[in-house]
This record gives sequence, C-alpha cells and structure tokens, in this order.
Amino acid sequence: MDDDNLNPTPTYAIPELPRLVRDMTAIGLVAVDKRMNILIWNRFMEINSQQDAESVVGRNLFECFPDLPKAWLEKKLKTIMILKNTAFSSWQQRPYVFPFTYTGTVTNDLEWMYQDCSFWALRDETGAVQGACISIQDVSETAMAQKMLEAAVEQNLSLEETSQRDALTGLFNRRYFDEHIRLEMHRAQHYHWPFCLAMLDIDFFKKVNDTYGHDAGDEVLKSVAQTLLKQIRNSDILCRFGGEEFVLLLTKMDIKDGTEVCERIVTEIRNTPVEINDQHTIHITMSIGISRYRPGISPHDLLKEADQALYASKQNGRNQFTVFKA
Ligand code: GH3
Ligand code: MG
Ligand code: MG
Repeated sequence: MDDDNLNPTPTYAIPELPRLVRDMTAIGLVAVDKRMNILIWNRFMEINSQQDAESVVGRNLFECFPDLPKAWLEKKLKTIMILKNTAFSSWQQRPYVFPFTYTGTVTNDLEWMYQDCSFWALRDETGAVQGACISIQDVSETAMAQKMLEAAVEQNLSLEETSQRDALTGLFNRRYFDEHIRLEMHRAQHYHWPFCLAMLDIDFFKKVNDTYGHDAGDEVLKSVAQTLLKQIRNSDILCRFGGEEFVLLLTKMDIKDGTEVCERIVTEIRNTPVEINDQHTIHITMSIGISRYRPGISPHDLLKEADQALYASKQNGRNQFTVFKA
C-alpha cells in the first residue's frame, strides 16, 4: 500500500471560496457569532431580504430582522454551538425561517418562500466554536407540488365518497345500493348467510310539504335518516332510495331479527317528532315492507317483494311493517 492511499483527499487552498459563497444566489448563507451578530450575509440573502451585507454585517441578527422566530432560532443556534453539531429544519415542520416573499413565477398562490434550513457550528483553526452558520434553500416549488398532490388526493377521495352519498341526508344513494345488493346477495349465497331487505316510506309526507313547506320536509328527511341510523348496525346498509323512500339491507340477519328491527324503527319514528326552527313540532310515522333472501332470487324480485309488503302496510293503515309472504 502506498502512502497516497492513507490520505487520499489532498486539501487545496481555494482562494475564491469565500467570494463564491458570498455570490451564491441559489442558496442563502448566514453566519453569526456567539452574540448573534451577523458575520456573513450572502448575495441570496441580500436579494431576498433587500438588505445589503454592508448594512447588516456586524449587527445583531434579531435586531436587524425582528420578524424572525427569535425564541426558536436563538435556542437552535445556541444548542448547536454548545453541542458542536448540526441541525435541520424542513419546510414541512416550519414553512420558513426567514420571512421572504415568494418571487417565483410558478404560482400566484404563495405568499412566502418555503425553506429548508441547515444549521451547523462554526469553528476556528483550533476547533473552538466561534458561532453558527445557517444555509437556506428555497424549496417553494417542491412544497407547492407536494401540496397540490395532497389536495388532489384529498379531492379524489371526497369525490368518490360524494358519488356514493345522497347530498341531503348523507345516506348511501341509489347507485350505491344497486352495486351493493348484488355483492350482499353473492355473499349470502356463498357463505349461506341469511339476509333481509326492507323498503321504508314516510307516511303522508306530501302533507308535510304542503303544510310546512319544502324546507321543513327536507328537515324531516334528515331527521328520519338519523333516527334510522340509530336503529341499525354499522354493517347494515341504509340508502335513500328516492324521495321519502329508503331501503335497508340487513346483512347476516334472519327474518326474525329483521322483523324486530322493523318494529323498533316504526316505534322510534313515531316517538321522535321533528322540531322545525322552534316553531313547529311535526309528528310522523313510517310504513315498512320486509322480505328475506332465498338462494336464487334476483335483486329485482327481492325488491319487488319488499315493495309489495310495503304496499300492504300502507293499505292496512300505515305506521306498521309487513313481512312478505308468497
Ligand atoms: P304515502 O303515505 O302514501 O306514502 O303518502 P306520501 O304523501 O308520503 O307519498 P307521495 O308519494 O304522494 O308523496 C311523496 C312526496 O315527497 C312528494 C314529493 O314532493 C316529496 N318529496 C320527494 N323528494 C323530496 C325532497 O327531497 N324533499 C322534500 N321536501 N320533499 C320531497
Ligand atoms: Mg310516503
Ligand atoms: Mg313514496
């Protein structure tokens, strides 16, 4: 092994280095002494702060720039001077350290320049700490791209959610029902699970609209949706089928338990009057028809059976449920 390999990195004196650092416009460089007086303020800092190095070097950093996060930054700088280590502040934790206006052209939405900052202790030839250095990198464009991506993901998720929901009640919509009834029937068939389907319809709802107005009708629909949700399990699927009609998929439930759910719903709806603007108290009732899944039955026929049972409830005086019988 020759001697060169023991010390493979020869050191050169680079006389222009201080000037290169000072002229850098892509990265900010600031150095302070132990008393927080500015030692270096490079070109990047001059441009963005609109303060010449001449006017700030030798002065206290926090007196020159009162908008800096003093408590946080001073602690950070003092800590690295004591521990002689380095530190980093990402734009994700703290969007910026130096409040510089964003002057880029990519977006108009940004007020401040996003910054990644590094901090390290500044030593003299003997290794003694004399101050600290901060480098500032403008990451506005990266931050913007990241934020736009996050917003797009968020929007897509909520779009998917809205496409399954009824806007007024927040319940699942008809489209969701159409997709899920097939799935539920498939599961019931495959695992030999019982499963019931109920059609629910508010009685004389037209009268609510006619007497109290359409907005009051909407309030009743919202209230009914909430009352229904309280009577079912998380695994059940409640949809607004249209108008004042709802459909309920009672998964893994036999007709005996399904009947009990219907009974509870009829009672709860009857006992839950809807208050409108502290002016009116609207009493409502609901009629229900319920049918049970059998292997081989189609979604269409199961619905038809529940609807026929619902019709029977209406015919028999409303405010009740009927179990479909062939
Ligand atoms: P029945 O007991 O036989 O079901 O009588 P009903 O009055 O409830 O039934 P009908 O089908 O005659 O009337 C339903 C009414 O529901 C008519 C329609 O204007 C109203 N409706 C449908 N959708 C909405 C809605 O989103 N908001 C409001 N406020 N009313 C609605
Ligand atoms: Mg009705
Ligand atoms: Mg109806």
